[in-house]
Parts: sequence; C-alpha cells; structure tokens
Amino acid sequence: MNKDFEQALAWTSDAPIGLSVDRAQGPFLYLEDGSRVIDLISGIAVSSLGHRHPAVIGAIQEQIDRHLHVMVYGEFVQKHQAGYAAELADALPDGLDSVYFTMTGTEANEGALKLAKKATGRSRMIGFRNSYHGDTHGSLSVTGRDVYRDPFLPLLPDVSFLPFGDVDALSAIDDSVACVITEPIQGEGGIIVPSDEWHRALRDRCSATGALLIFDEIQTGFGRTGSLFAFEQFGVQPDIITLAKAMAGGMPLGAFVSSRELMSAFRNDPPLSHVTTFGGHPVSCAAARATLRVLQNEQLPERAKWIEEVVRERLGHPAVVEVRGRGAMLGMLLDDAERTARVVQSCLEGGVLLGWTLHSNNLVRIAPPLNISEPVLVEALDVIVAALEAS
Ligand code: PLP
Repeated sequence: MNKDFEQALAWTSDAPIGLSVDRAQGPFLYLEDGSRVIDLISGIAVSSLGHRHPAVIGAIQEQIDRHLHVMVYGEFVQKHQAGYAAELADALPDGLDSVYFTMTGTEANEGALKLAKKATGRSRMIGFRNSYHGDTHGSLSVTGRDVYRDPFLPLLPDVSFLPFGDVDALSAIDDSVACVITEPIQGEGGIIVPSDEWHRALRDRCSATGALLIFDEIQTGFGRTGSLFAFEQFGVQPDIITLAKAMAGGMPLGAFVSSRELMSAFRNDPPLSHVTTFGGHPVSCAAARATLRVLQNEQLPERAKWIEEVVRERLGHPAVVEVRGRGAMLGMLLDDAERTARVVQSCLEGGVLLGWTLHSNNLVRIAPPLNISEPVLVEALDVIVAALEAS
C-alpha cells in the first residue's frame, strides 16, 4: 500500500479497500497498476451519472472561470446557487420550496434537526432502530445503532428509537415531539423497504401531533430508487427533506428543504442562528444544476427501475437468499458473512467493486451509476455470478 496513505492519512478502519485510483470515467475506475474496475457502488450512491459526466465537468469549468468562494452562505446573490435552489424547489412538491444548502449529508441533517426544534419549540426527537443519519453529534444522536453510539455517549438527550416499519409503535409519537427522522428506505441498515401503510401511518401520526416529519433522502434521492425522490413512491410528503450524495454529480453538496414558512424560523431570534461558510459552494451548485438536468432529460430514475429488473433476473442464484431494495439501491443478501467477504473479494479480483452496508456484514451493496450501459452491467453481473459459483 502507498506509504503516505499508510502513515499520514487517518484511517477509518483497520482494513480500508486501499485501491490506488489514477482516474475515473463513466462506470469505470482506472487504477495506478493499469487495471480497470467497474464501480458498482458509485462511491456509495454518489456517482449516479457515472464519473466525470461531461455536462458536470463543463459546468464546473465554466464556474471556476467566474468565481470560487466569495462569501459565507446566504449573503450574496450567486447565480448557480439561487438558480439551482429554484430548480430543485420546482422538482419538489409545494411545501418543499425553501432550500438551505450545506456541504455534506450529516450537516443537512444537523440543520433539519435544529430547524425542527426552533420551529416547534419542542425538543424531543424520534429516530428508528437500525437507521443511519451521519456521524456528527446531532445526526449520530438520531442514528439507531448502539455500537456506533455507545463510545460517544452522552449524545443529545430526549431521543427515542422506534422499530422501523412497525405501525403500532408509531403511537409513541405525541405532541411533545419536535421531529421524527427517517430514511424512506433504510440504506446502511441493510437496504430495508418499509410498507406503504407504514409510511402513511407515520405521516398521519406526525400531522396529528404536530411533530415535523424529516425524510433523510441523502442516499435514496436523485433517482436512485426509481423516482427522483423515494417519497414519491410511498404517496407521502415530508415536512423537511435532507439531500446530499448524488446531488452534485461528484462534488460535495447537501441541503435541507422545507416550506418557506418553516425555514423562516432561522431568519431571526437570533439572526444567523444557523450559518455555514461553504454550504452551497458555487462550483458544487453549478455541478448540481447540470446533474439535475441530466437526471431529468435522460430519465435516469426510470433507468434505475430497469437496472433493478436486470439485477434481479441475473442474480437468481441458490447462494442468494434475497435481492432487496428499489431501483438501483439494491442489496444482495447471502447466507453467511464469510461467504459474503469471499464473494466481494473475488469480484474485486475480477474487476468489479462491490461493498457492504454499514450495519450488515452479509448484504452486498449494488448501486451502479444509473446510466451504466447494458453490456457493462451484464459484464459486472456475470463476474458476481462466477464469484458466487466459486464461493
Ligand atoms: N444519511 C444517510 C441516509 C446516509 O446514507 C449518509 C451517508 O452514508 C448520511 C446521512 C451522511 O452523509 P455524509 O457522509 O455526507 O455526511
């Protein structure tokens, strides 16, 4: 492994994947040893247009010739920041029309949680078991996995966790609750799709008690699950949606979006009660505008559904317990963790990058770029089938 990587870079585990990337284009990573790898995880649901999409690169180049950072968030009129906010609001239903930009997903959730507290004057929060919302203190406080929380206790007080997808448990939401935060489909928890009934009951309970419903669409957003946003498939609308990851075609950008009325809680009492230096960076916003256009013009959410069909058809193998998820946010569940590790490793040796989800060690994540071509997708799936055969 590279000496600088080993010695100077902080590691997040004892076993990083450690691929040395020279460049990336479309669905491919090209490594320094000259090999080519098909990226079937899109940098964890980020590179939905593939790597270096020409429209994104063009938008970045145009913006860097004009200006980089000029002022902290929310003070100056910046063409692509304001323009993208308007286009994003247009792509969302009424009631989700005021966009607050951040840099990352966890920061979008931090803002959403603070907004819910400020707008309701309440402090209690509800999250769901097995969820993942990010690693800063607020997001970790509503993340439902003790193994990640315990070393950092105490976290925010007044947070309770309910079982995900359980309609009866929703009666715990009452009028002391500021917000309920959930992923519409759990990602890191192991790609878990709850029922339409649960989504409707959750929306009804929040409306009845005045608790704000936050959908964390950081992973499910921007076409990944077969619609521009996953909530569209469940027939419910959140009060606040949080976004990041695929938003800016590989550039860092996040946002939380609510009604104008709700968002006005951040304008005063005190003014600047939530600020960020780099949120809505002009280069990221230019890239995000191009990304949204490509997603819409090339109907990539629809293509995610086609990916699901191809993957399900090709991975009907006896070692596969289940393929679950929606669109191009899929998980292949195998019968044991050791086999899973062997399959992932042998796919990598065969030129296909797969991965785990954070909370599961026998679920293989499959999240290709939404515009992956049929021959490349089939080539990758053939490598997976061969690895399953050999496992
Ligand atoms: N929320 C969800 C559902 C995520 O999947 C992630 C990251 O995987 C985050 C929040 C955190 O986003 P970020 O890593 O950009 O802070």
